[in-house]
Amino acid sequence: MGAHSVWVLEYARSPVHPVSGVYYGAHNQGTMNLPFAYILIRTADAVALVDVGHDANDFGGEIANSIGVTGWTPPEIVLGECGVRPEDVTHIFITHAHFDHIGGLKFFPNAKIFIQKKELESWMWILAKGRRFRSLLAGLNPADILYLTQANIEGRLELLEGPREDVLPGIHLYPAHDTHTAGSQYVVVQNRGSDDRLVLSGDVVYTYRNLTGDDQLDPCFVPPGLANGSQTKLIQAAEEMLGIVGNDERRIIPVHEEKLAQFYPSRLSDHGLRIVEICVADGEQSRV
Ligand SMILES: [Zn+2]
Repeated sequence: MGAHSVWVLEYARSPVHPVSGVYYGAHNQGTMNLPFAYILIRTADAVALVDVGHDANDFGGEIANSIGVTGWTPPEIVLGECGVRPEDVTHIFITHAHFDHIGGLKFFPNAKIFIQKKELESWMWILAKGRRFRSLLAGLNPADILYLTQANIEGRLELLEGPREDVLPGIHLYPAHDTHTAGSQYVVVQNRGSDDRLVLSGDVVYTYRNLTGDDQLDPCFVPPGLANGSQTKLIQAAEEMLGIVGNDERRIIPVHEEKLAQFYPSRLSDHGLRIVEICVADGEQSRV
């Protein structure tokens, strides 16, 4: 218990995601079930999201279809399971600009958006390089980058150059540059004290297997396969996250991890989407 409630809200899934995209070097291992989710944080004064999913009705939906994503559900239904409306959202922390993390921004007209400046600049650079660089654009809907510039005109965009501690009280943003993407960042939620922290890892860590490999007794970092940055920096960022949570792996929360429900209370919504309750603030009701 503490000052923040945190829920992981599934909004779609892919039953056929290539294993090699999630684990570097996992060639010829077929496909796996991959949940797509974003994270809701409620504090006394704010409603924050870490990433926002995608919009099935724009080019993000075409990308989703091309990789077998099914069951997309709009934010008013997903957030409604926790008694929140999209227009209530005050803060959005974008870990990175892949379509399934940023494409839903348009659904949250009142939120201020926080993203690393390097993330925006690097995608602009790749787009400017032209077609021969398009392999680096995997997972990007260019319209989402345009949306950021529009949000900037509206005064709703904050471009971060490195860490931002206490962006909200007890919520910190840290860069993980040149990892999964050039300007990835992750979120730390601190409840009671320095020993009560959560790391919301974005896609720097897709699943717990990225932290441990296949042998829990002899753990080995296996970085994500999909990366515009470096495998070494992905591993360094994962080590940094483990340090923040005192090597308690379960306090790192990867949104694509199907096993979260084994470690935290959860339920399925009427739409068949999983709601995982990571923690509930004092005075807040459980949603599972
Ligand atoms: Zn990603």
